[in-house]
Amino acid sequence: MTRHALISGASIGGPALAHQLAARGWCTTVVERAPRLRDEGQNIDVRGAGREVLRRMGLEDAALAAGTGEVGLRFVDDDGAAVAEFPAGRGDTAGGTAEMEILRGELSRLLHERTRDTTEYRFGEQIRELRDDTDHGGRVTARLASGEEIEADLVVVAEGTRSRTRDLVFGDVEITELGSRSPT
Ligand SMILES: Cc1cc2nc3c(=O)[nH]c(=O)nc-3n(C[C@H](O)[C@H](O)[C@H](O)COP(=O)(O)OP(=O)(O)OC[C@H]3O[C@@H](n4cnc5c(N)ncnc54)[C@H](O)[C@@H]3O)c2cc1C
Repeated sequence: MTRHALISGASIGGPALAHQLAARGWCTTVVERAPRLRDEGQNIDVRGAGREVLRRMGLEDAALAAGTGEVGLRFVDDDGAAVAEFPAGRGDTAGGTAEMEILRGELSRLLHERTRDTTEYRFGEQIRELRDDTDHGGRVTARLASGEEIEADLVVVAEGTRSRTRDLVFGDVEITELGSRSPT
């Protein structure tokens, strides 16, 4: 029987996992609370493991092409002459500015486009309740906000740090603020 994975969150982690599971024969459903793919966010520098994931998904060239095109950082004097320069890195890890700089929304779009034919996406939907019968040879049943029930062999919560579905499973999880703030 084909195994079914229900993944919550259609940002970066959710679609990337759906791709890998679908490639291994899983049936995959992604539910996303937002009514459509979220395209907000600033640029992300993709390095190391993240870059390797894109490579394995066959998306490395597409991500480079969709990148911001940043060429690095240059300090200039009053006349505009360069006094110091940090060019973008070349390759997977080098440079203050990475070779692969891409807007978060563009990265999410690429991942969604790569997976939408092999994964069922449900936007404007979320998990309200989970019942785990796997200890008794059964599956996990998820009741969605729409009232529909979905059975799955695996439920993955990829909802970011403030996940409500995680609270359904583990109760309140304390989040440690690291002090990073947007300038006001
Ligand atoms: C809109 C947005 C903008 C961001 N901008 C930046 C940025 O500029 N720079 C940067 O470095 N990082 C940014 N991030 C964070 C970065 O994308 C993530 O930290 C990282 O990619 C982790 O991805 P993730 O897929 O695990 O979770 P996230 O990217 O946090 O995505 C979680 C997804 O789950 C969905 N979701 C949340 N709760 C539920 C629920 N109950 N049911 C169903 N779906 C749910 C969210 O709508 C979202 O689509 C942003 C994230 C988001 C969502």
